[in-house]
Amino acid sequence: MKRPALSRRSALQLGSVVLLLGVQHIARGATIVAVRVWPSKDYTRLTIESDGEIKARQFFVAEPPRLAVDIEGIDLIPALRELVAKVKSDDPNISGIRVGQNAPGVVRLVIDLKQPIQPQVFTLPPVAAYQYRLVFDLYPTQVADPLEALIAEKLADRQAGTAPPPASDPIADLIARQSGKQADNKPAPPAAVAEKDKDKSPGPAASPGVAKPAPEAAATVKNGKTDRLVIVALDPGHGGEDPGAVGPGGTREKDVVLQIAHRLRDRINQQPNMRAYLTRDADFFVPLHVRVQKARRVQADLFISIHADAFFTARPQGASVFALSEKGASSSAARWIADKENSADLVGGINVKAKDAQVQKALLDMSTTAQINDSLKLGSAMLGEIGNVGKLHKPKVEQAGFAVLKAPDIPSVLVETAFISNPDEEARLRSDDYQVQLADALMRGITRYFARNPPLARNRAV
Ligand SMILES: [Zn+2]
Repeated sequence: MKRPALSRRSALQLGSVVLLLGVQHIARGATIVAVRVWPSKDYTRLTIESDGEIKARQFFVAEPPRLAVDIEGIDLIPALRELVAKVKSDDPNISGIRVGQNAPGVVRLVIDLKQPIQPQVFTLPPVAAYQYRLVFDLYPTQVADPLEALIAEKLADRQAGTAPPPASDPIADLIARQSGKQADNKPAPPAAVAEKDKDKSPGPAASPGVAKPAPEAAATVKNGKTDRLVIVALDPGHGGEDPGAVGPGGTREKDVVLQIAHRLRDRINQQPNMRAYLTRDADFFVPLHVRVQKARRVQADLFISIHADAFFTARPQGASVFALSEKGASSSAARWIADKENSADLVGGINVKAKDAQVQKALLDMSTTAQINDSLKLGSAMLGEIGNVGKLHKPKVEQAGFAVLKAPDIPSVLVETAFISNPDEEARLRSDDYQVQLADALMRGITRYFARNPPLARNRAV
């Protein structure tokens, strides 16, 4: 008979392991405590969280594209079936998931894909509120050029007439006012984009029907300012597996900072020659070095990381602005906050074995003196404006080793908009009123910075 033979064999196998792990553990095996799906255009992440380590072996099938994964050490349980229901029809990468018991203790997961992908499968040890995590990051193999997409968007806006006419350029007005000249109210040439972009084809990112940048799209410098497209990278902190700080009322940092970033994006996009680029525009995790890499890929003129502070007690309040430091933190509090923000990758979950992550981290340790000087100017312009709409935690721009501020060629600041751990400020962070005031203040800060430090015509090769 088959059954007794099997049990005897399993009993023998179990015998040696029980000595190491104890009866309880073996009797239960690993139990799945949660399954999550984080879809985004960049990549879709699947997370299987369990109370013990589980192993997976995966193989990719090209036609039709699908990823089959055998997960060892678990049985098919309702939690895993939930994964099937959690895939939304608008997921950019996954069309569906099938699960089945492949063998005793082995569950097969088949992830049907909408396009060819490059999977990264890795495990994460328990951290913060999480137990063991088995992570599947599904990256599309074909990625659109984000800079071309931005230019196409701006052109489409202009053609649709949704952008205001270039005649009312607040930066030009401010520069003129500062230099005592009348503002140049003549309409600027249409479709002004950077010199570096003029010979690029629209590529796969451009939507059909969007015209290629016209010859006059090249940058022109007039009255000391440039007419090229100025790109402001907005970086809403945390996302996906990493909620960031959580307020006493349950408000998650990752949600409010995304809302504030969306409001600021709308204000930036209303400027005649500006476009906002979001390092994440939905609820998914982006590793810190990838945020920097993304801003550099679109050759951003500024990088603004948006966060909400937290402390163990309810009392601390007010906004702070940070820049990078080359020689240690400006205060122990600044160092503490930088350490806290830098630990986002641990909670969010990065594949530390991926070569790309190591290379990128090494690249980001470059000389940054000029960047820091510009970042301090940007930071104080923003701090001054935030002080008009809310309390400040510190009246001066502070400095510390924030990983996300390390683009050597982009003035970069991190704004802690308020203390989410303070009940009053948590309520403000959630309110439309304060979000609007804050976005307006940040926009004025950007405008003030550019008025004193006009964006230059660029001929960088990268
Ligand atoms: Zn944060």
